[in-house]
Amino acid sequence: MNRRCFLSSLAGFGAVPLLGTGDDTDAQFTRRAKYWKPLEDKRIACTLCPRACEVADRERGYCGVRENVEGVYSTLVYGRAVAAHVDPIEKKPLFHFLPATTAFSIATTGCNMECKFCQNWDISQFRPEQVKSADLLPAAVAATAKDRSCASIAYTYSEPVIFYEYMLDSAIEGRTRGLRSVMISNGYILKEPLMELLPRLDAVKVDLKAFTDTFYRELCAGTLQPVLDALRWIKEQGTWLEIVDLILPGQNDAEGEIRALSQWVVRELGPEVPVHFSQFHPTYRITNLPRTPVSTLERCYRVAKETGLHFVYLGNVPGLGYEDTSCPGCGATLIRRMGFTILSNTLKGGACPSCGRTIPGVWS
Ligand code: SF4
Repeated sequence: MNRRCFLSSLAGFGAVPLLGTGDDTDAQFTRRAKYWKPLEDKRIACTLCPRACEVADRERGYCGVRENVEGVYSTLVYGRAVAAHVDPIEKKPLFHFLPATTAFSIATTGCNMECKFCQNWDISQFRPEQVKSADLLPAAVAATAKDRSCASIAYTYSEPVIFYEYMLDSAIEGRTRGLRSVMISNGYILKEPLMELLPRLDAVKVDLKAFTDTFYRELCAGTLQPVLDALRWIKEQGTWLEIVDLILPGQNDAEGEIRALSQWVVRELGPEVPVHFSQFHPTYRITNLPRTPVSTLERCYRVAKETGLHFVYLGNVPGLGYEDTSCPGCGATLIRRMGFTILSNTLKGGACPSCGRTIPGVWS
């Protein structure tokens, strides 16, 4: 699918149909990868994410979008968009970042984990050549975002770490047009590439999928500690950060685990980092569990507030009052939400109009 066809299919909000023509080639989306080092016999070691793949000549890494040819490692998804939507920023979810604005949201195929409950498995668990794509280079990403009056570009749906070079250059292009950039990620990235990326980003949302290594290993094919490390680095660099914990019944919903996770956030990142507990619904390889009961989510909310977190939200259960932002000082309701819609926002210059307390976030 060429860019003109693709862009003409952008009809505003919601999903963009991708009507690939099959005339794209791997070569047009191939760029030399940024983070890897050569090994013997034309093998390479990828240094982008904690999986640390060692890849033989003519092989790909675990994520399926990086390939070794003759000892040179390349990304196969530079400018190879498989999704492009105009989304409310609240959908990411980012609640303390430019409320009521939209984000031009892009993805390629691929992921460096395999979560058995992935909501976007139809792109995250496939190789580039298996999904119809569009030629959407960074300059076109920024131009389209601007044309659609978006405030930001979001790298999302699949795992943006694995389309690192595309994300980085799109963020740079976006800045030249006054656009912010936000990464919606599993936080599975090594320090050096993260440190290069963070100055180009304005916000990061990390899925902290559980607080046990067992959950990460058994349900995500990943590990917990690298995600905790990345969270600390993001916070240290001062990039706006929010956390989502998708609660699976009987898997990561124990009160002790929620308490430990919340205490870790308060201690290591600070009580002002928003934490969203979201309702699971059956999908992909986990269809035998029910939706998370609202009572379980309410318990997560209570426990997190007890540990001292200032901003706790419940996701995927609109209308229950757990999406509103309140002042941790005087308790005044500041932002009222219903799903992805802002019903009211009384913040004045990023502060509570009642008591004057500064509310952390990116408000303008
Ligand atoms: S980015 Fe991909 S190739 Fe590199 S270490 Fe991670 S999974 Fe492996």
